[in-house]
Amino acid sequence: MTNFEEMGFTPGILKAIQELGFEQPMPVQEKVIPLMLSEEGDIIALAQTGTGKTAAFGLPLVQMTDTDFNSTQALILCPTRELCMQITGDLTDYARYTGKLRILAVYGGASIDNQIRELKKGVHIIVATPGRLIDLIGRRAAKLSAVKTVILDEADEMLNMGFLDSINEILEEVPDGRRTLLFSATMSSEISGIAKRYMENPKEITIGTKNASAENVTHGYYLVQARDKYKVLKRIADSEPDIYGIVFCRTRKETQEIASKLIEDGYNADALHGDLSQVQRDTVMQKFRVRNLQLLVATDVAARGLDVDDLTHVINYSLPDDNEVYTHRSGRTGRAGKKGISISLINVREQHNLKQIERLVKKPFKIIKIPTGSEICGKQLFHWIKKLETVVTEHQEIEKFLPEITEKLSGLDREELLRRVVSLQFDRFLDDYRSGDEILSPVDRGDDNYRDRGKKGPQREYSGNYKRLFINLGKTDGFYPEQLIELVNKNTQKKVPLGKIDLLKTFSFFEVESEFADYLIEALNNAKFNDRRVAVEIALEKPEGHREDDRSGKRPAKWSDRKPEKRRSDGHESRNRDFKKDKKYGKKEKKKYSR
Ligand code: AMP
Repeated sequence: MTNFEEMGFTPGILKAIQELGFEQPMPVQEKVIPLMLSEEGDIIALAQTGTGKTAAFGLPLVQMTDTDFNSTQALILCPTRELCMQITGDLTDYARYTGKLRILAVYGGASIDNQIRELKKGVHIIVATPGRLIDLIGRRAAKLSAVKTVILDEADEMLNMGFLDSINEILEEVPDGRRTLLFSATMSSEISGIAKRYMENPKEITIGTKNASAENVTHGYYLVQARDKYKVLKRIADSEPDIYGIVFCRTRKETQEIASKLIEDGYNADALHGDLSQVQRDTVMQKFRVRNLQLLVATDVAARGLDVDDLTHVINYSLPDDNEVYTHRSGRTGRAGKKGISISLINVREQHNLKQIERLVKKPFKIIKIPTGSEICGKQLFHWIKKLETVVTEHQEIEKFLPEITEKLSGLDREELLRRVVSLQFDRFLDDYRSGDEILSPVDRGDDNYRDRGKKGPQREYSGNYKRLFINLGKTDGFYPEQLIELVNKNTQKKVPLGKIDLLKTFSFFEVESEFADYLIEALNNAKFNDRRVAVEIALEKPEGHREDDRSGKRPAKWSDRKPEKRRSDGHESRNRDFKKDKKYGKKEKKKYSR
């Protein structure tokens, strides 16, 4: 392995490298830097984001620029304003001890007059987005006749964003004898088109999948129904209290919706998309960089140029339309030697897309079980316990209260005290989860048909139509999804596909594939649960505005208006049946609310 010292850098650049904390060159730097410093000729480097590309071209470029010659000698084109600013910032760092090197970032969405003024002063290196540079060339503010080096960074992204014509136009402006370097994560036909047209016998370097970032990323997916997607996202966040990740959505609308819901639900999240003003985007990105936000919900375009090295998670709330984009997304985690995970929330039909992505990434994608409420509570609890272990207790203010507190709690031994403290904390999570509804993915429901459509074996297509059933058991009966599934399995001979389960205090609702509804009703109506006779029937349609999943288990207002509460002899309320029998609830009404 070559050191930076052996690469032929000047002492000024070596000092900057040392101050940046770069100890060893990264693979792309090992290959590109010697070529740039000691040889002529064009270079194509296939490398993903986060592999150290900027320093690979930036360090030699800074060294090779003649600061005594007051003309633009190098041009760097990149897809976004953020990347533009980032590259400019990095180059400025490299040039810290290199005399008066002038580097200017020019991009859209900022005052063109200021940029023109700066250009007029003379700039050695221009870092530009294609659209704005064309504007500046048109106004004769950017002069490219002395350019000796052109760098196309994230060339594939520039093409994805429709910059092909602009790039062609710009490259026509640059003198023929220049050197061109093209950096791209992938090699597409358009990229090789540009290479053929504007590059001469380029040397090709592939860092590709061998880069550390891809190696450190594991890929997983949750199989979920569309209506449960958001709930699963929350479960992921709740089961990873230290999560620091980007949630990728497909559209700006979806991005805003998901971010707003997360904020409303008390998560440390915000949105990043193209409908925000530049100032808003900058603020959000800065908040995320300094970890004031744990979850950034973003579109692919808006997240480009956001350089954060230590993401724990990339979450694909929606798969990208283009599979290549997946590699860009997942490459944002697992950087700088850290481990990362890229998670996708997909439905049954998207399993096919995932197989294609799996081939592209060349890594197996593991299906992940949706964490149950009690698993999440456990994780939260242990996260809290870890904090308890490491908390610093040097508050002077507490000291004065301690004697009285010690006195008050003197009747409790250590074990009892511990139990109570933990119990108080646990209750906080419990409300949200243990007593909440469980989400079952098709796999959790034991429905093999969903497991892998590509696999051989008997397959059945379910209609996807569900009937909603009422059951006279609820949470106070110790009746949770596991108990329901066990009850169904114990009393049926065939596999019965279940849907959503809504648990309430004393009764519950659950969905079953329509064609199994009668069979299941019959099977369960002869069954017992903890010595109680089970009663199941088709559920009445809920009156409008009613929230059945009222976590408090309180009777919904509209129902209470219609149905006087009846207590059964065993102390349990039986709503559904009594509801129908209720005299106040006449035939006409009944018809309206029945299916
Ligand atoms: P890039 O692909 O240029 O965006 O670089 C990814 C990250 O790696 C940036 O945070 C760089 O500061 C960092 N980096 C670049 N080169 C090195 C190096 N030789 N050693 C350690 N970190 C580096």
